[in-house]
Amino acid sequence: MDMGISGKRALVCASSKGLGRGCAEALAAEGVNLVLNARTEGPLEKTAQELRDKYGVDVVAIAADITSEEGRNKVLAEAADVDILVTNAGGPPPGMWSDWEREDFIKAIDANMLTPIALMKALLPKMIEKGWGRVVNITSQSVKSPIAVLGLSNSARAGLTGYVAGTSRQVAPHGVVINNLLPGIHATDRAESLDQGVADAQGISVEEASAQRAASLPTGRYGTAEEFGATCAFMCSQYAGNMIGQNVLLDGGAMNSTM
Ligand code: NAP
Repeated sequence: MDMGISGKRALVCASSKGLGRGCAEALAAEGVNLVLNARTEGPLEKTAQELRDKYGVDVVAIAADITSEEGRNKVLAEAADVDILVTNAGGPPPGMWSDWEREDFIKAIDANMLTPIALMKALLPKMIEKGWGRVVNITSQSVKSPIAVLGLSNSARAGLTGYVAGTSRQVAPHGVVINNLLPGIHATDRAESLDQGVADAQGISVEEASAQRAASLPTGRYGTAEEFGATCAFMCSQYAGNMIGQNVLLDGGAMNSTM
């Protein structure tokens, strides 16, 4: 299926690896030119070159911390005219409610709520002017179904979700579509570090922790970055024009709910 976005330009944040890379790759496969971003230059350049070679699209790579104002300005200087924005950043660390201080919340809110909001504020005006735009925020299943040890993530991402619910309806009349994409457990470095946390807490091996977590999912396996990216590409496509302010959950059926 042709998504009808060949020749568009997208900023995909935090995209040298994992889910961000999956989204970037699926967009590149649709002929979308890219601005990629991550903090570490080596893996970022490697990903950029792989996507140029495989899909023949234009790829600019900006090494910067997207959660800092300086990093965002560096990225936005290259990405001011994009048609598509995919927001993403590393997730907050796991922990215990009784240990989190104000500073921990400020850090999580800065990274996982205020950073995507700042990016939207910067890029939506141009999309509105053009009468076409797509935004996909990578959030988490924790928005619908809390993960107790990820209370910092649960809190910050819920704030972003509330913002998107209203803002998506304000920009919809201008052909600009904003939605959130919610990963459950996916096979990435982030999942491995969470497996390690479970292994440490339960005194089991990482392999046992991973098998235990996979077995808890109706699919019996972790999701893949490829599947995740394909859904993202659809949400950035011409066909997503009637999908406004939705929270699309890709969790292998983990959340037990009828609707
Ligand atoms: P990942 O495999 O660890 O990849 C993270 C990517 O983001 C890397 O390219 C990393 O590169 C980049 N990055 C991290 N912090 C950044 C920053 N401040 N500025 C710019 N780039 C940054 O993680 P993932 O599994 O794809 O997860 C992506 C998001 O989905 C996270 O917020 C995570 O919490 C959330 N999530 C993931 C899962 C899962 O099972 N994988 C489930 C629920 C939610 P550098 O380190 O070089 O910057």
